[in-house]
Amino acid sequence: MLNVPSQSFPAPRSQQRVAAGGRSKVPLKQGRSLMDWIRLTKSGKDLTGLKGRLIEVTEEELKKHNKKDDCWICIRGFVYNVSPYMEYHPGGEDELMRAAGSDGTELFDQVHRWVNYESMLKECLVGRMAVKPAVLKGMLPKSQVTDTLAKEGPNYPSYDWFQTDSLVTIAIYTKQKDINLDSIIVDRQDDSFRAETIIKDCLYLIHIGLSREVQEDFSVRVIESVGKIEIVLKKKENTSWNFLGHPLENHHSLIPRKDTGLYYRKCQLISKEDVTHDTRLFCLMLPPSTHLQVPIGQHVYLKLSITGTEIVKPYTPVSGSLFSEFKEPVLPNNKYIYFLIKIYPTGLFTPELDRLQIGDFVSMSSPEGTFKISEFQELEDLFLLAAGTGFTPMVKILNYALTDIPTLRKVKLMFFNKTEDDIIWRSQLEKLAFKDKRLDVEFVLSAPTSEWNGKQGHISPALLSEFLKRNLDKSRVLVCICGPVPFTEQGIRLLHDLNFSKNEIHSFTA
Ligand code: FAD
Ligand code: NAP
Repeated sequence: MLNVPSQSFPAPRSQQRVAAGGRSKVPLKQGRSLMDWIRLTKSGKDLTGLKGRLIEVTEEELKKHNKKDDCWICIRGFVYNVSPYMEYHPGGEDELMRAAGSDGTELFDQVHRWVNYESMLKECLVGRMAVKPAVLKGMLPKSQVTDTLAKEGPNYPSYDWFQTDSLVTIAIYTKQKDINLDSIIVDRQDDSFRAETIIKDCLYLIHIGLSREVQEDFSVRVIESVGKIEIVLKKKENTSWNFLGHPLENHHSLIPRKDTGLYYRKCQLISKEDVTHDTRLFCLMLPPSTHLQVPIGQHVYLKLSITGTEIVKPYTPVSGSLFSEFKEPVLPNNKYIYFLIKIYPTGLFTPELDRLQIGDFVSMSSPEGTFKISEFQELEDLFLLAAGTGFTPMVKILNYALTDIPTLRKVKLMFFNKTEDDIIWRSQLEKLAFKDKRLDVEFVLSAPTSEWNGKQGHISPALLSEFLKRNLDKSRVLVCICGPVPFTEQGIRLLHDLNFSKNEIHSFTA
């Protein structure tokens, strides 16, 4: 519910979505795009009917506002009048009405906890719930979620610090073995030090206002065998620190990931390069005082302020090229993050992103996603089904598979596009397949010119049954699929029909 803006693209009611079972398209209502919504919120119109007053809302009062033309919804203790927003909601009115007159926090979190509803709905704010927030489950603002897990006990992470004349080392004891450099994200801004460690489905947060100044750069080490992380800060002055600092919000807490807000840092646009007529390779640079690595198959959220409203969309980082010999500009610690992004001229976010100049900033979140590298264990056959920019998660997967899976015998990519001009990195793919005989690439076009003599059409039983041949009957297989939501949904159905089990399929969605 509260799809602000659409999490999945195309939006459930967008022209690019299919109706169940077919390929018919639903027309977009004129004047009801998210841009139109933003304009309405800036028009000065009274959207709550309360003439700018904020009120305390009782549960009884909330329940009364449960109709389309009088619909209040509570999210994390704040109540919004969403009636004016109904027609603009990309997920449709019915989805919003599921939470009418009630607390919609859980429904909201299930679908898109990353969406910045505070900004999108700020003109619809009626007020706060009149009860103590802690009494109502899930109603605290994300920033105030306190950890509910016991801070004692053998499995609770802990931290310590020690110093030399010039260095301060913060050691985090995760008490987990499967920790690596992807599991730790460090951001330091002025005197605030923030380290998120991903421990299974939780985040362990160290959040401290440092007592003394440190230099911009720092190093991070992981001792995997004991699950220890060391962050080594360089003192600005070689004096002894009496204490590390004072605790900031949620310091030393272990919070279920679903209950944490996303943390953003400002990244600088370093380069932008045309890849096809509408898709560009963007390179963003992390701030020097950030350590962050995006794991294979995961995405981040980019955030821009568009006419004063914060808009967030998910994107999947890629490598700068499909070739491992590709050389990045020299900077330590994986500071560059690359994205292949298609610009939709009538889209909300991408035209704005495309307008950024080299040197401008865009906010980027910490990574999210369900893909785990363990899915590659003992893998023999890897099949990749991608449509359009659904190719993006496949880039790092291809790089990894061809260099780091010793058991791998075959990788096959079937790449669906409209025309030849839409194929991202076609020549790189062809060169890579020529160089590495384990890789086969098949392009399928839905709107080819008459000169095209390759495969044509859409994802179908005929195309897949021919393409998805296992090397051996019992070989360890993984099929990854990504593209427009209906493409992915149809692909999964076809894969089940072809007897691929759930464990053999990974579909990419937000
Ligand atoms: P939107 O405003 O969403 O519009 C896109 C198009 O749909 C436009 O043509 C618009 O006119 C039309 N449209 C919008 N709403 C409607 C409607 N209600 N009815 C009819 N038509 C409508 N994209 C990439 O390019 N690269 C990536 O790496 C990438 N990674 C992603 C990862 C994940 C997990 C997910 C879920 C998506 C990813 N996407 C990626 C897609 C991306 O998040 C955006 O959806 C996309 O960039 C479009 O954003 P936009 O705001 O510019 O366009
Ligand atoms: P596109 O160019 O519109 O489409 C690519 C190909 O897919 C075309 O051949 C197209 O055929 C076909 N296709 C479209 N809808 C289909 C459907 N319902 N059934 C079967 N085939 C269909 O794609 P795009 O604009 O690049 O969009 C890529 C999509 O991937 C976006 O929705 C984006 O959100 C998603 N994506 C998701 C992730 C992720 O979840 N991790 C990552 C990246 C991208 P037609 O010519 O008939 O349209």
